[in-house]
Amino acid sequence: MARLPIKTFPDPGLSRPCRQVREVDEDLKQLAQDMLETMYAAPGVGLAAPQVGRDLRLVVIDCVPRDEEPQPMVLFNPRIVHMEGQVIFEEGCLSVPGFTCDVTRAERVVVQAMDAEGRPFTVEGEGLMAICLQHELDHLDGRLFLDRISPLKRTLYKKRRLKQLKRDAE
Ligand SMILES: [Zn+2]
Repeated sequence: MARLPIKTFPDPGLSRPCRQVREVDEDLKQLAQDMLETMYAAPGVGLAAPQVGRDLRLVVIDCVPRDEEPQPMVLFNPRIVHMEGQVIFEEGCLSVPGFTCDVTRAERVVVQAMDAEGRPFTVEGEGLMAICLQHELDHLDGRLFLDRISPLKRTLYKKRRLKQLKRDAE
Protein backbone atom coordinates (compact mmCIF):
# COMPACT_ATOMS: atom_id res chain seq x y z
CA MET A 1 0.00 0.00 0.00
CA ALA A 2 1.10 3.54 -0.59
CA ARG A 3 -0.05 6.98 0.38
CA LEU A 4 -0.88 9.20 -2.55
CA PRO A 5 -0.48 12.98 -2.80
CA ILE A 6 -3.83 14.79 -2.56
CA LYS A 7 -4.67 17.41 -5.20
CA THR A 8 -6.08 20.66 -3.90
CA PHE A 9 -8.20 23.46 -5.34
CA PRO A 10 -7.72 24.94 -7.94
CA ASP A 11 -6.17 21.84 -9.56
CA PRO A 12 -8.01 21.55 -12.94
CA GLY A 13 -8.45 17.75 -12.53
CA LEU A 14 -10.89 18.47 -9.68
CA SER A 15 -13.36 20.22 -11.97
CA ARG A 16 -13.57 17.67 -14.78
CA PRO A 17 -16.08 14.78 -15.01
CA CYS A 18 -14.39 11.38 -14.66
CA ARG A 19 -14.41 8.33 -16.94
CA GLN A 20 -16.38 5.15 -16.21
CA VAL A 21 -14.33 2.20 -15.04
CA ARG A 22 -14.48 -0.55 -17.69
CA GLU A 23 -13.14 -3.43 -15.63
CA VAL A 24 -11.97 -3.72 -12.02
CA ASP A 25 -8.50 -5.15 -12.66
CA GLU A 26 -5.57 -5.67 -10.26
CA ASP A 27 -4.24 -2.14 -10.81
CA LEU A 28 -7.58 -0.60 -9.88
CA LYS A 29 -7.96 -2.85 -6.83
CA GLN A 30 -4.54 -1.64 -5.69
CA LEU A 31 -5.48 1.97 -6.38
CA ALA A 32 -8.59 1.59 -4.19
CA GLN A 33 -6.45 0.20 -1.32
CA ASP A 34 -3.94 3.05 -1.72
CA MET A 35 -6.79 5.56 -1.65
CA LEU A 36 -8.13 4.01 1.57
CA GLU A 37 -4.71 4.28 3.17
CA THR A 38 -4.41 7.88 2.00
CA MET A 39 -7.89 8.69 3.34
CA TYR A 40 -7.24 7.16 6.80
CA ALA A 41 -3.88 8.93 7.05
CA ALA A 42 -5.26 12.35 6.10
CA PRO A 43 -7.53 11.75 8.10
CA GLY A 44 -10.76 11.94 6.13
CA VAL A 45 -14.09 10.08 5.78
CA GLY A 46 -14.04 9.86 1.99
CA LEU A 47 -11.78 10.23 -1.03
CA ALA A 48 -12.49 10.30 -4.76
CA ALA A 49 -10.07 9.29 -7.53
CA PRO A 50 -9.75 12.81 -9.04
CA GLN A 51 -8.44 13.95 -5.63
CA VAL A 52 -5.38 11.77 -6.23
CA GLY A 53 -5.09 12.83 -9.86
CA ARG A 54 -6.92 9.89 -11.45
CA ASP A 55 -9.64 10.40 -14.03
CA LEU A 56 -11.82 7.48 -12.88
CA ARG A 57 -15.22 6.92 -11.30
CA LEU A 58 -13.95 5.47 -8.04
CA VAL A 59 -14.52 6.61 -4.44
CA VAL A 60 -13.62 5.19 -1.04
CA ILE A 61 -15.55 5.95 2.14
CA ASP A 62 -15.49 5.16 5.85
CA CYS A 63 -17.85 7.28 7.93
CA VAL A 64 -17.87 5.30 11.18
CA PRO A 65 -16.46 7.11 14.24
CA ARG A 66 -12.69 6.60 14.59
CA ASP A 67 -12.99 4.72 17.89
CA GLU A 68 -15.14 2.03 16.24
CA GLU A 69 -14.15 -0.84 13.98
CA PRO A 70 -13.26 0.56 10.52
CA GLN A 71 -15.77 -0.11 7.73
CA PRO A 72 -13.92 0.69 4.51
CA MET A 73 -16.15 0.89 1.45
CA VAL A 74 -14.98 0.94 -2.17
CA LEU A 75 -17.35 2.10 -4.92
CA PHE A 76 -16.54 1.79 -8.62
CA ASN A 77 -18.92 3.57 -11.03
CA PRO A 78 -21.29 4.60 -8.23
CA ARG A 79 -24.57 6.24 -9.13
CA ILE A 80 -27.43 7.57 -7.04
CA VAL A 81 -30.67 5.77 -7.85
CA HIS A 82 -32.83 7.32 -5.15
CA MET A 83 -32.68 10.38 -2.90
CA GLU A 84 -35.11 11.91 -0.42
CA GLY A 85 -35.43 14.47 2.35
CA GLN A 86 -33.12 17.37 3.04
CA VAL A 87 -30.33 17.97 5.51
CA ILE A 88 -27.84 20.78 6.15
CA PHE A 89 -24.36 19.84 7.32
CA GLU A 90 -21.08 21.72 7.69
CA GLU A 91 -18.80 20.10 5.10
CA GLY A 92 -15.10 20.22 4.48
CA CYS A 93 -12.89 18.54 1.91
CA LEU A 94 -9.29 17.30 1.79
CA SER A 95 -8.98 19.17 -1.52
CA VAL A 96 -10.30 22.43 -0.08
CA PRO A 97 -7.92 23.13 2.81
CA GLY A 98 -8.81 25.51 5.60
CA PHE A 99 -12.49 25.93 4.81
CA THR A 100 -15.83 24.48 5.90
CA CYS A 101 -19.35 25.59 5.03
CA ASP A 102 -22.99 24.52 5.42
CA VAL A 103 -24.23 22.53 2.44
CA THR A 104 -27.80 21.34 1.75
CA ARG A 105 -28.12 17.75 0.54
CA ALA A 106 -30.57 14.85 0.46
CA GLU A 107 -31.03 13.15 3.84
CA ARG A 108 -31.17 9.63 2.43
CA VAL A 109 -29.71 8.16 -0.74
CA VAL A 110 -29.52 4.77 -2.40
CA VAL A 111 -26.40 4.17 -4.46
CA GLN A 112 -25.54 1.35 -6.85
CA ALA A 113 -21.89 0.57 -7.54
CA MET A 114 -19.29 -2.18 -7.86
CA ASP A 115 -17.33 -3.15 -4.75
CA ALA A 116 -13.58 -3.65 -4.23
CA GLU A 117 -13.77 -6.92 -6.18
CA GLY A 118 -15.91 -5.55 -8.99
CA ARG A 119 -19.17 -7.12 -7.78
CA PRO A 120 -22.36 -5.06 -8.07
CA PHE A 121 -23.94 -3.94 -4.79
CA THR A 122 -26.41 -1.43 -3.44
CA VAL A 123 -25.86 0.78 -0.40
CA GLU A 124 -28.44 2.84 1.46
CA GLY A 125 -27.02 5.85 3.22
CA GLU A 126 -28.54 8.02 5.92
CA GLY A 127 -27.13 10.94 7.93
CA LEU A 128 -23.35 11.32 7.60
CA MET A 129 -23.17 8.36 5.22
CA ALA A 130 -25.68 9.98 2.84
CA ILE A 131 -23.80 13.28 2.95
CA CYS A 132 -20.47 11.57 2.39
CA LEU A 133 -21.78 9.55 -0.58
CA GLN A 134 -23.18 12.68 -2.24
CA HIS A 135 -20.01 14.70 -1.55
CA GLU A 136 -17.72 12.01 -3.01
CA LEU A 137 -19.95 11.29 -6.00
CA ASP A 138 -19.96 15.02 -6.77
CA HIS A 139 -16.17 14.81 -7.18
CA LEU A 140 -16.68 12.31 -10.02
CA ASP A 141 -18.71 14.91 -11.88
CA GLY A 142 -16.07 17.59 -11.32
CA ARG A 143 -18.04 19.30 -8.54
CA LEU A 144 -16.69 20.48 -5.21
CA PHE A 145 -18.84 21.43 -2.22
CA LEU A 146 -17.76 24.99 -3.08
CA ASP A 147 -20.07 24.71 -6.09
CA ARG A 148 -23.03 24.15 -3.76
CA ILE A 149 -22.62 27.21 -1.52
CA SER A 150 -23.54 30.84 -2.11
CA PRO A 151 -21.56 32.61 -4.87
CA LEU A 152 -20.41 35.22 -2.34
CA LYS A 153 -18.91 32.65 0.05
CA ARG A 154 -17.37 30.80 -2.89
CA THR A 155 -15.74 33.94 -4.25
CA LEU A 156 -14.37 34.86 -0.81
CA TYR A 157 -12.81 31.42 -0.40
CA LYS A 158 -11.31 31.41 -3.89
CA LYS A 159 -9.74 34.83 -3.33
CA ARG A 160 -8.30 33.79 0.01
CA ARG A 161 -6.98 30.49 -1.37
CA LEU A 162 -5.29 32.10 -4.39
CA LYS A 163 -3.70 34.73 -2.16
CA GLN A 164 -2.42 31.98 0.15
CA LEU A 165 -1.00 29.95 -2.76
CA LYS A 166 0.75 33.07 -4.07
CA ARG A 167 2.23 33.70 -0.64
CA ASP A 168 3.41 30.08 -0.34
CA ALA A 169 5.07 30.32 -3.76
CA GLU A 170 7.09 33.41 -2.79
ZN1 LIG B 1 -14.15 16.27 -1.11
